[in-house]
Amino acid sequence: MGFDAIKLAKETEKVVCSGKDRKYYRFRAARFYGGIATADCVGCNLRCIFCWSYNMVRNADMVGRFYSAKDVADKLVEIAKRHGLNKLRISGNEPTICREHLIRVLEELSEQRDKLLFILETNGILLGADESYAAELGRFDFLHVRVSLKGDSEKRFEQITGADGRFFNYQLKALENLVKYGVSCHASVILAEDVDGLRKRLEKIDKSLGDVEVEGLILYPDVRKRLKRAGLL
Ligand code: SF4
Repeated sequence: MGFDAIKLAKETEKVVCSGKDRKYYRFRAARFYGGIATADCVGCNLRCIFCWSYNMVRNADMVGRFYSAKDVADKLVEIAKRHGLNKLRISGNEPTICREHLIRVLEELSEQRDKLLFILETNGILLGADESYAAELGRFDFLHVRVSLKGDSEKRFEQITGADGRFFNYQLKALENLVKYGVSCHASVILAEDVDGLRKRLEKIDKSLGDVEVEGLILYPDVRKRLKRAGLL
């Protein structure tokens, strides 16, 4: 049986959230989405076997430093302006941990944005656990949420993330909640065994969710080793 992803989120919060501030380890312009200003946060409630920021996830107490929501919003806007970009995101680890901070960043951006799009990349667990979180995100019309599904079944999810398989359903619930509150969103999936089956399942939640993005996996040498050890290669 895997670990409790909600309990781990609460424990991680104690390390990476301080009042309305949150830990980050990097700010940059990234090439994804045709160019996007990116703030890389610290701390996650999953332990994905392929995680490309494994070090930050495992050593959240040792890396990064605290930034206020205003600092983060200002830095994102400044990077976007400097590189001529119109998209922003918080990435790296899991942005929905430190809820007050994330909402404050979005509020700051809504005051100063100039036709900017904020893409929230999330594992969705906390949005599935608490409907009011998705409802709160519904206040921001410049937001798009990408829920990154870890596999396409409870069993696969547990193999990939180490968390109990029942939390896969929290990921699906996140999408349901986001649709319910009119938040623009889509699902991506990694290491799926049956994409068509998943698509049908998502369409049952809402027709619009059938357009699933299939994520590729970058096989860095240590990622390959971890996947092989877990029998996922
Ligand atoms: S959800 Fe993302 S940041 Fe968290 S462990 Fe998985 S890949 Fe890493």
